[in-house]
Parts: sequence; structure tokens; C-alpha cells
Amino acid sequence: MLSSGMVRLAEVVEDVAEHVNINVKFYKDAQEFNVFDGELSTSVSLICQRCNGSLAHQINMSFCFVVVRDKDNVDELPDVYEPVEVNDHGEVDLLQLFEDELILALPLVALHDEQSCIVDASKLSFGKIEPADERPNPFGVLKELKRD
Ligand SMILES: [Zn+2]
Repeated sequence: MLSSGMVRLAEVVEDVAEHVNINVKFYKDAQEFNVFDGELSTSVSLICQRCNGSLAHQINMSFCFVVVRDKDNVDELPDVYEPVEVNDHGEVDLLQLFEDELILALPLVALHDEQSCIVDASKLSFGKIEPADERPNPFGVLKELKRD
């Protein structure tokens, strides 16, 4: 899949590889649920929060979704599946779904390894650094949406 359609992903990273590699298998499981699972991988460039340099980041992730309709009782679904609701056309927008997954897979704070970072962390005055974990997660809202 070409990454050029993933506008939101492109906005939150410095650069995205041209291709997102997707392995996906669609099937009905023993309980007649419509399931699709597989793997997503691509590479992105992030900005290191310590030195502002470019940082290559590889995303490799697996997924296992079950297609649900409004009336389905999500509580009855096996826990191994992540429910995904169909849109008004009765379809799942795979591009949007996979894009969400890639965005959620990004690190909250991008940092080089200490060895490869241009800024030597040991020489920094900690008084000037905002602690990373106090920054709001820009994707927190997205995570909440997915949980519904
Ligand atoms: Zn760095």
C-alpha cells in the first residue's frame, strides 16, 4: 500500500517510507465472525526530542480485527480480537484503520540512543529540560476513540 494516502500519519512524522507493507488475511472464524489479521510494517523518520536531528524508526506490528456492526454485542467477542465497526456503507476503511494503527505505534517521545545522539545527555542541565512524561500525548484522544 502506498503511504501517500496516509495524510494524518505524514503530518505527525518527518517522513514516511513510500510503501507500507501489509500482510492481511480475511476469513470467517469458527463462530462465523468476520476476522482479518496480519502484519503492518513501514519506516518513518522522526525528530529526536533531544538534538532535533532526524531519527529513523521502523514500525513492525501485528493486528487481529473482527468486523462488527452496530447491533453486535462487542462484549461477546473473544478478547483476542480488536473490534472494528463498519461505516455507513457497511464497509471497513482499511486505509484509515491501518493509518490509525501506525500512528498509535509511534513512540510518545522520539529519542536517539544515547550513543548515537548528537547531544550528550550527560552534559545537559536537567533544569532546562521539560520532563517528557509531563507532556500530553497527542494521540491520547485517538486511543480513547478506539476504545469505544
Ligand atoms: Zn538525538
